[in-house]
Amino acid sequence: MGQRLGQHFLHRRVYLEKIAAAACPARTVIEIGPGKGALTELLLEGAERVIAVELDPELVSYLLLKFAGNPKLKVVSGDILATDLTQWGPAIVVGNLPYYITSPVIERTLAMGRLLERAVFLIQKEVAERIAAKPGTRDYGFLTVATQLFAEPKVVVKVPPSAFTPPPKVDSAVISLTPRHHGDPPTDPAPLLAFIGLCFRQKRKTLRNNLSPFFGHDRVDPLPEASLRAEQITLEQFRHLYQLLVDPRLIPA
Ligand code: SAM
Repeated sequence: MGQRLGQHFLHRRVYLEKIAAAACPARTVIEIGPGKGALTELLLEGAERVIAVELDPELVSYLLLKFAGNPKLKVVSGDILATDLTQWGPAIVVGNLPYYITSPVIERTLAMGRLLERAVFLIQKEVAERIAAKPGTRDYGFLTVATQLFAEPKVVVKVPPSAFTPPPKVDSAVISLTPRHHGDPPTDPAPLLAFIGLCFRQKRKTLRNNLSPFFGHDRVDPLPEASLRAEQITLEQFRHLYQLLVDPRLIPA
């Protein structure tokens, strides 16, 4: 079961402390995949309450016994991807994530909108670098833009495989995501994300190639960015293109 659920337990104290310091002090922390509670313990020191959502029923029992009687902790047995992250009000979302669900977890976390105060995730280093990439670099892609439109990323620290039991095959990194709150009325992220998906449909092709089948040559060809590839386009340009082609009501961050 361990392998299937991405169970690599972080044991090196210095990294646990760095994650906790990036998340706390906090009122409410939602911890994704608490495992055996190593990070949970530190989060409980810096937060008023911790909601820890764990899928593995054996670990849920372990946590309930380990933290029995601690009124600040609520252990939730279940799948984070089936959990409504907004039900506890404004929160900081934290976790040493099972790497196979990194993208959907980030998507669901950013979809919390104004209820997301900050996110701090330990993820695969390569994914952290893609999220924090600058335009024109090899790593800049759909995940970069989809994340950066809604949050400002910062790589907090890199974490070697030896810091985990058992060690994963890849290097890891802690990333923090600070939400950029869009103006009122709140923006529904779904159509904007769908548009970004179209721009990166074929990464090596120009926007003219990727977008004209959907919006027509007469609207796409005159755009100053038509002959550029999506990987060369800044966040501001993506927002502007979306306003021109899809929805003028998008309010820039
Ligand atoms: N936080 C612990 C630590 O740092 O030592 C464990 C981290 S381990 C990488 C990932 C944890 O997420 C495991 O405890 C695993 O059982 C749990 N998990 C896996 N898939 C999950 C899901 N869909 N929802 C909630 N927890 C999940």
